Amino acid sequence: MTVLFRELYEAKEKEWLSPFACLSVNSKGRLLPEENDPYRTCFQRDRDRIVHSKAFRRLKRKTQVFLAPLGDHYRTRLTHTLEVVQIARTISRALRLNEDLTEAIALSHDLGHTPFGHAGERALNELSSFGFNHAEQSLRVVDILEQRRGKKGLNLTFEVREGIKNHSKGKCILFGQPCPEGISCEALVVSLSDVIAYITHDIDDSIRAKILSIKQLPSKSISILGETASEQIDTMVRGVIEGSKEGHIQIIPDILNAIIELRNYLFEKLYPSEPIAKEINKAQRVIQELFHYYMHNPPKDILEDEPKSEGDILERKVLDFLAGMTDEYALNAYQQLFLPSPWHI
Ligand code: MG
Repeated sequence: MTVLFRELYEAKEKEWLSPFACLSVNSKGRLLPEENDPYRTCFQRDRDRIVHSKAFRRLKRKTQVFLAPLGDHYRTRLTHTLEVVQIARTISRALRLNEDLTEAIALSHDLGHTPFGHAGERALNELSSFGFNHAEQSLRVVDILEQRRGKKGLNLTFEVREGIKNHSKGKCILFGQPCPEGISCEALVVSLSDVIAYITHDIDDSIRAKILSIKQLPSKSISILGETASEQIDTMVRGVIEGSKEGHIQIIPDILNAIIELRNYLFEKLYPSEPIAKEINKAQRVIQELFHYYMHNPPKDILEDEPKSEGDILERKVLDFLAGMTDEYALNAYQQLFLPSPWHI
């Protein structure tokens, strides 16, 4: 009998990975059972489905911190995602965790992000009668909103879906709180990698935008973590790899304290600072006005759309439509709906 390449790969995982890793062969499976692939493990297939999805391509025009940036070197949600992937894969590989599962969770963790980053998320959460959260929306994207081969959803494995849902829960490690029951080491690694990526690149982008200088940052943290994004990522990644043991994902204490201090600085001083906050207020107004407009004048294709899940009501459809928009799409829609056009003839 011919042994399939996937089976050889699964055997290699059993031999090489840590006892705390999720083995592909032990996956709890998909919502709809499928035949196995001859070459790829279940987590490798999930990763490929995510990269080929439309929601993944839209990340290139969604905000990280700076709205619809014109400068070529600012991060977008797509480059943020790729930085999270690289950081998470390095940590996962060094801890002998399942790198393919880690990669699939990292690639999909922000698929449900709204236009205009967290400003858009906050606006939708306040407007919606049932609340809005980007982690839950990311799960809704892969389970319901994306289409594959004419069917609803990407039909991903339980482990990737759980990782997406819990991708913000790794903050338990930063704050010394108990982690959610049953969360995988791979999901925790993605969650910490998300923090490492946004702290380092938001500082780097803010220095590029000349709204921050390295001298303003807490000096103790910078002396431990380094001055450049490259040095900071390197130190933080080492802090996780060397701080973790026996299936417990942890960070070396002095590096952990430096990360917390830097993160606090960003949330208390940088994000609320005038140059960022004034654009965020405008972005929230765009989302609010589009929401109210579409609730009273739903676009024809939204109305004709089959309900994607049980209990889909107009508000749910409007939320999905708005959350799926890129920054540019939302700004163009706003311009067409609310601003007068110049007369051409
Ligand atoms: Mg993220």
